[in-house]
Amino acid sequence: MERTLADARRWVAHGTHVCRDAIASLDEAAFAQACLLPGWTRKHLVAHLAANGDAVRNLATWAATGVPTPMYSSPAQRSSDIEAGSQYAGSALTAWFDRSAQGLQEAWDGLSASAWQAPVVTAQGRTVPASETPWMRAREVLVHAVDLGTGVTFADLPSDFLEALGDDVTTKRCAAPMADSPAVEICPTDATGVRWTLPGSDPSTSITVAGPLAACTAYLAGRGDAGLTASRDGERTPIPSLAAWL
Ligand code: ZN
Repeated sequence: MERTLADARRWVAHGTHVCRDAIASLDEAAFAQACLLPGWTRKHLVAHLAANGDAVRNLATWAATGVPTPMYSSPAQRSSDIEAGSQYAGSALTAWFDRSAQGLQEAWDGLSASAWQAPVVTAQGRTVPASETPWMRAREVLVHAVDLGTGVTFADLPSDFLEALGDDVTTKRCAAPMADSPAVEICPTDATGVRWTLPGSDPSTSITVAGPLAACTAYLAGRGDAGLTASRDGERTPIPSLAAWL
């Protein structure tokens, strides 16, 4: 599907709201528990979300001023900020998340039409127009709202966001085809005309993975295969595992 800047900003607003509700439900003990991402507590993840908001705001500053303002000063700095944040009190993390989300929204509100088209460089080294950065933030707040492990699932996320996410992850996964695997066709059973194909190393056969849109996008995002079935030449087959993403 075609996604617009307005779509992405709507998804950021929604995801910020969902994260804020999830974070507000946490007491200090729940903050210290593991989230759904390996090796991270919820504190690590909230610190990452807050730092990401600040980092994406740097790109808005870059677009507005033309002065190169990277998301993070270095990958090491990004990691050490998350590690430091994981030691904060839950209340401090909640305040940081809110401050960072608010600051980002204000920075975006202040961008002119030409600033939205200005080139900026992401932490992955991609040069994109500033108008792409709300999509980057939308992915973070909506997918990590699930990763917080407070009961939000992919089925709770907007279906037009899920379609855009599936398109985006498929594009990225196509850039690095799976070794030793047939192609995988992912077919949501509840979204007309939506189908994603991951190329494999064996062009002579493919595996079809089917299930609800939410389950298909969770799978594409490397977050398990619950609710899906796979078939090959009409026979049930194990679901190929996909590496984590984001
Ligand atoms: Zn992230």
